Amino acid sequence: MSWHVLGAGSLGSLWAARLSRAGVPVQLILRDERRLASYRQTGALTLVEGDHASQHVIPARSLADDTPIERLLLACKAYDAADAIERVAHRLAPGAEVILLQNGLGSQDEVLERLPGRRCLFASSTEGAFRDGDWRVVFAGQGHTWIGDPADITAPSWLIDLQRSRIAHTWSPDILARLWRKLALNCAINPLTVLHGCRNGELAGYREDVDGLCAELEVLLRGCGQAEAAEHLQADVWRVIEATAANYSSMYQDVAGGRRTEVSYLLGYACTAGDRHGLSLPRLHALQQRLLAYLHSRGLPRH
Ligand code: NAP
Repeated sequence: MSWHVLGAGSLGSLWAARLSRAGVPVQLILRDERRLASYRQTGALTLVEGDHASQHVIPARSLADDTPIERLLLACKAYDAADAIERVAHRLAPGAEVILLQNGLGSQDEVLERLPGRRCLFASSTEGAFRDGDWRVVFAGQGHTWIGDPADITAPSWLIDLQRSRIAHTWSPDILARLWRKLALNCAINPLTVLHGCRNGELAGYREDVDGLCAELEVLLRGCGQAEAAEHLQADVWRVIEATAANYSSMYQDVAGGRRTEVSYLLGYACTAGDRHGLSLPRLHALQQRLLAYLHSRGLPRH
């Protein structure tokens, strides 16, 4: 059974190259005929690991193709997920499964709404990858991927493909708690690095702001039924800040590169969820207002 990877960006290419290298059948779904022509001209995906580059000739088709899909890895950004899934939903074979790689929360529900009755599995990854050219991906940070299904704790049989491909992963019966925890870490760190124009480690100079956000994020997590994800959040935030002190956050990098951020699925989702549960979260709301104003001032979308 073949994997289809929609979105040959950073993570999609990283997954496709490793699956292909292990002999697991995989195909790429590219945005349009222009992207397909560009890929065919290059002829392969290049995976860069340390100082070693390997080429992977992976079949590709455009989104307009109509061959059936049995296993789909949705590897686009959160804000593209709903639109992308609408374009391929009619191609999903009976019993097809969809794995959602998107960071944050909210896009998973948008996809589920469009795929009633289908099994959708959620992933949360700490792997790091970026594109340093067309059809080239750099595996920049070894990490781990948790995969789970809030509707069904039965592990899928295809995890064996990930094992063969040496994609470090764990089946997670409580994937929502993982996604909430990661969202909270992101809300405590990323927006402040954008507003202060700093590396993660420099947040040590804004200790009171970080701690105040952590306190509200704990209220949010508990209020949303995620008490476990709230445990020791503040200590974990400082652990991440120290461990990644020299790094620029993903949101900082998106803004610096003039790219749309996933804010609606991170801080935006947190604020909306807090309102829905009637929680008072003044620091998070003030942070959201400052961040959205800043994005607007840089000519970037506020959603
Ligand atoms: P990315 O490099 O921007 O890749 C997204 C890809 O999706 C692009 O190649 C884009 O195509 C493609 N795409 C979007 N809409 C499409 C459509 N309708 N049809 C076909 N292709 C479409 O993003 P990424 O960094 O891989 O991130 C993907 C998700 O993983 C995000 O939610 C991100 O937060 C999460 N994540 C990323 C990392 C990382 O290290 N990169 C780590 C953890 C989590 P074009 O190239 O044509 O624009």
